[in-house]
Amino acid sequence: MTKGAPPKRLVVALGGNAILQPGEKGTFEEQDANVLKTCRQIAKILKKGHEVVITHGNGPQVGNILIQNERSGDVVPSMPLDVCGSESQGFIGYMIQNNMNRAMAEEGIHRDVATVVTQVVVDPKDPAFDAPTKPVGPFYDSKTAASKMKERGERWVEDSGRGWRKVVPSPDPLDIVEKQVIKVLLEAGILVVACGGGGIPVVAEGGAYRGVEAVIDKDLAAERLASMIRADMLLILTDVPRVCLNYRQPGQMELGQVTVKEARDFMNQGHFKAGSMKPKVQAAIRFVESGGKAAIISSLGAVLDAIDGLEGTRVVPGI
Ligand code: ADP
Ligand code: MG
Repeated sequence: MTKGAPPKRLVVALGGNAILQPGEKGTFEEQDANVLKTCRQIAKILKKGHEVVITHGNGPQVGNILIQNERSGDVVPSMPLDVCGSESQGFIGYMIQNNMNRAMAEEGIHRDVATVVTQVVVDPKDPAFDAPTKPVGPFYDSKTAASKMKERGERWVEDSGRGWRKVVPSPDPLDIVEKQVIKVLLEAGILVVACGGGGIPVVAEGGAYRGVEAVIDKDLAAERLASMIRADMLLILTDVPRVCLNYRQPGQMELGQVTVKEARDFMNQGHFKAGSMKPKVQAAIRFVESGGKAAIISSLGAVLDAIDGLEGTRVVPGI
């Protein structure tokens, strides 16, 4: 144990930029190199004696898998969204396992690493199912979108002038099917990767589970994971070092430490954008309300200081 915070159980939620940087094409080499940099940061956290559980986004990766499926549908059968999600968990999990081994070796430490293909339970009556909002897959022209809406009963929207895209529901995560597996692995000292891409959304059905066409927000799923394993801290790592008030507007101000009550008030005042910063703040609030000591939103580069309370936006209990 080196100086700094005492050892903690941490859930580290990696944002999209930990795997793919803006402007990159998405080749394996690009993603592998980004993941190595990310894993080097995580190895440094482990070296300080902390226990880490890793979770991550999958937007660009599952998007590309969907395109591959759509384009080759006349050659091999296309797979549904839940299966594509599971493929992305395996793909990203593999890159993390492989690069964590390398990064830990550089630090002179070792842990066995395992990726858990994770199913996350959602409520089939979640209002999100009546109002799909999350764009997935390739862009198409308006004619194709119209015919898909008619033929398949799907919902499509025009996405910021870039073309038409299918939208799917984004229901709230309730439970993690593999939570016991994750706990057993943790108790055995294994570095676990779980709930990738927010997990594969499933609904309970006849004593079992069925995959559904939806996307769970990865920050909200990270909160469920962190609360269920009683993590000391939820670390949401993105591409900004701190959450701001009046983001990109006059009077922009970075937030340091805020209470749950303050965070909720700022959220209700509309400071955090839906689909990007809002779910992170929401996840932080939920984690602390479920008994967590602190949730931190910061960047990958600032993570070591963030754990020690010197960087990032920290949401703590209190009014
Ligand atoms: P990730 O892949 O890490 O989930 P997102 O793009 O979903 O990344 O969310 C991070 C982005 O949220 C930042 O790059 C920033 O542009 C945006 N954002 C929206 N509102 C705020 C805010 N109030 N403070 C800081 N960043 C914000
Ligand atoms: Mg996001």
